[in-house]
Amino acid sequence: MKCPSCRGKMERGVTTLPYELNRDKLIVVRDVPALVCVQCGEVFIEALILKQVEGLLNTVQKSGMTLGFLEYREAA
Ligand SMILES: [Zn+2]
Repeated sequence: MKCPSCRGKMERGVTTLPYELNRDKLIVVRDVPALVCVQCGEVFIEALILKQVEGLLNTVQKSGMTLGFLEYREAA
């Protein structure tokens, strides 16, 4: 696909997503697979992957963690 911002080429890579939850929790998800624009750096994450990230965040919220890093992994 092409970059929605500049129509540059997008390549597979990984990105880091910070999530602020309920104002008092900060969870950073690392190594999230993404398409990254080689020209402007725009990041596009596929819907399926976002769903998996949301699943991870739900698990984290239940565990009571308020600050931390997660590594993305595929949901079972
Ligand atoms: Zn771009």
